[in-house]
Amino acid sequence: MKAEEIFQTYKDNIMPTYNKVPLIFVKGKGSKLWDINSKEYLDFFPGWGVGNLGHCPPKVMQGIRDQVGKLIFIPNNYYHPFQAKLAKELIYHSFPGKVFFANSGAEANEGAIKLARKFGQGRYEIITFENAFHGRTLAALAATGQKKYQEGFQPIPDGFKQVKFNDIAAVTQAISDKTVAIMLELVQGEGGINVASKDFVLFLRKICAEKKLLLIIDEVQTGIGRTGKMFCYQHYGIAPDIMTLAKSLGGGLPISAMIAKKEISDILSPGMHASTFGGGPVICKAALGVFRAMDKENILINCKNMGSYLKDQLDILKNKYPVIKEVRGMGLMLGVELAIEGKQVVDKCIERGLLINCTHEKVLRLMPALNISKSQIDKALRILSSVLEECAK
Ligand SMILES: *Cc1c(COP(=O)(O)O)cnc(C)c1O
Repeated sequence: MKAEEIFQTYKDNIMPTYNKVPLIFVKGKGSKLWDINSKEYLDFFPGWGVGNLGHCPPKVMQGIRDQVGKLIFIPNNYYHPFQAKLAKELIYHSFPGKVFFANSGAEANEGAIKLARKFGQGRYEIITFENAFHGRTLAALAATGQKKYQEGFQPIPDGFKQVKFNDIAAVTQAISDKTVAIMLELVQGEGGINVASKDFVLFLRKICAEKKLLLIIDEVQTGIGRTGKMFCYQHYGIAPDIMTLAKSLGGGLPISAMIAKKEISDILSPGMHASTFGGGPVICKAALGVFRAMDKENILINCKNMGSYLKDQLDILKNKYPVIKEVRGMGLMLGVELAIEGKQVVDKCIERGLLINCTHEKVLRLMPALNISKSQIDKALRILSSVLEECAK
């Protein structure tokens, strides 16, 4: 199919649920992507957080290749070796507990919400935060809480109370005898790269323990090394009661996980929750490839080093261009808040071969692969700074 035909076929046959950039990609390797005209792009937002190891990571491809042709699917009423291995790997890297496998971030969060309600035995209310994003299914949408995502889909499931992020008093006030959990992202991704303060997170951990609430941490975007540690909660010296993962867990294939600490990990008993595709063999092999790469390729060290380098360089740009209001984030999850709409900046960067994202209208979101090199960062900065030079006029 030629480009025009592909665009037209989408238009005629695929629901228009996405704002789309008119680019057709056919190949990817590491932080590089090639479109249908063989034009090369530098990808600083691989897969909306899916590509923590970049495109086609070798160890992930190896895992997939090993498994295809042996057994590509087996349902969850049977056993296969790789779900066992992957669960063990996840627990080894996080905290003592058990895993439920699903396919998407929203689905992992739905599982967490169901577990919390079951745990609550009548207590059902979950406190979430302004500018949160937990997914698009109905309960996840309720947890997300933002009007712009909920409009037109009422009634939205009950039992969610949304309060201001990083606001201890607001949380204290919101807790009632119906409250069963507090759910949050430690760095809000879609909400504009807002970082939870240490005091706030320590307070949440303490109040949850005191009031027997579950602390649910949504690491769908922050997990698997994105912030410089395997999981973002590890920066805070706490552990959640439930953690959800998705985006980069499968190295590009769809898999998600909901991990619950030991004391609550047997609450969902046979028949209470399920997901047909959750944790199939091919995808578990892909995810095991992700952990092999994380262990062997100094990914976390590179993320920390390149994250602080990129942040420093962006701070230099901020001093140069007053159009940048703030640079914030953790590891290689960085936001650049602008005084102007970010779309024009994103579009111009894309024209010049750099793929970035803008969230919350004015926040450029840079989340390159964790194995990004310094020279690739320098190239991205040259493009971004030439664009800002123009847009700032
Ligand atoms: C992307 C995202 C989700 C939703 O994941 P899907 O796989 O699209 O359902 C949930 N929470 C966070 C923090 C996310 O970034």
